[in-house]
Amino acid sequence: MQVATHIHDIKMSFKLEIAPGKTLDRFVYLWLIYAKQIYVVDSGVAGAKDLILGSVKETGHDPANIATLVITHAHPDHVGGALGVQKATGCVVAAHEADKSWIEDTELQYRQRPVPSFHSIVEGPVRVDRVLHDGDSLELRDGSALKVMHTPGHAKGHISLLYEADRSLFCGDCVPLRGAMPVYEDVFALVRSIKRLGAVSGLELLLSSWDVPRRGRQIYEVMDEALSYIQDIHQTVRQVRTELGAADVPMIAREVSRKLGFPETVLAPPFFKTVEAHLRVSEYRDPLAL
Ligand SMILES: [Zn+2]
Repeated sequence: MQVATHIHDIKMSFKLEIAPGKTLDRFVYLWLIYAKQIYVVDSGVAGAKDLILGSVKETGHDPANIATLVITHAHPDHVGGALGVQKATGCVVAAHEADKSWIEDTELQYRQRPVPSFHSIVEGPVRVDRVLHDGDSLELRDGSALKVMHTPGHAKGHISLLYEADRSLFCGDCVPLRGAMPVYEDVFALVRSIKRLGAVSGLELLLSSWDVPRRGRQIYEVMDEALSYIQDIHQTVRQVRTELGAADVPMIAREVSRKLGFPETVLAPPFFKTVEAHLRVSEYRDPLAL
C-alpha cells in the first residue's frame, strides 16, 4: 500500500511454532522506496521475495530495478527473506557493521539468540555488500538519500533510516508498543535511541516494523508512550526482584509477565533477554533519568 509519495509498505503475516502443534500469529512490515531505482527496507521472513516482486510488478515497475536491500537489523523477521530477494534481483545488501556477522552467519545468530521456528522463517545467510555506520548517507538514484542513524538497544546493529524526501522515519523494531511483548537487550541504549529519534523534528510519517504507519503528532506520542512503557516494565522488574529475591531469570520473567498481563506465549528467550537487560541495571530507579 502506498503510504507516502515514494514509499509503499507490505504487511507480511507469518506463524511461529512455539511448541509442537502450537503456533503464534505474527506480522512484520517491510517497505519499498521508488526513487528512479527501487530500494527495499527489510526483507521480512522466508518467502518475502514473492510479495516484494509482486508488489513491484503491481505498481508497474520492473523488479530488475531493485537496487539495494537495507536491513534495519539481523533478527529473523527482518533478514529471513533476504537471500531470495538478493538472488532474484542481484541487489546490494546493506546493514550496520554490528549486525553483519549475524546476517552473514545465520547459524551463529541462532546459537547466540535461539528464536522459535528460526529455520523455517530464515532462508539462509546473505552477504552484506555495504557496511553502514551512524551518519552515513545512502544516496538514492533520484538524488534523495536515506540517512543512517545507529539506534541500538533492541539489537546491537539496529539502524533507523531518515528519508527526508518524504519526511519519513523507518524505525524498525526500535520503538516498543505498549502491551506488545517487549524485546530488547540494552535498556539504556534503547532509551537513548528512542530519545534521539524523538528529537528529529518535523517528521510526517513513522514506519515501524510492528505498528501501523503513524503520522504527525502521533509519531511523537508513540515515542513518549514507548519510553513510559519501558519505565513501567523497569519498575515491575525491580518489584518482582525484591519479592522473589534470588530467583532465576525465567522465574522472574514469568512473574513480570503475569503482572504486566502478557499471555504465556511471551515466555521465550527473546523476552527473557529483555528481563535480563532490566535486571542488569535494576539498581537504577528510573531508566529515563540517565
Ligand atoms: Zn528485531
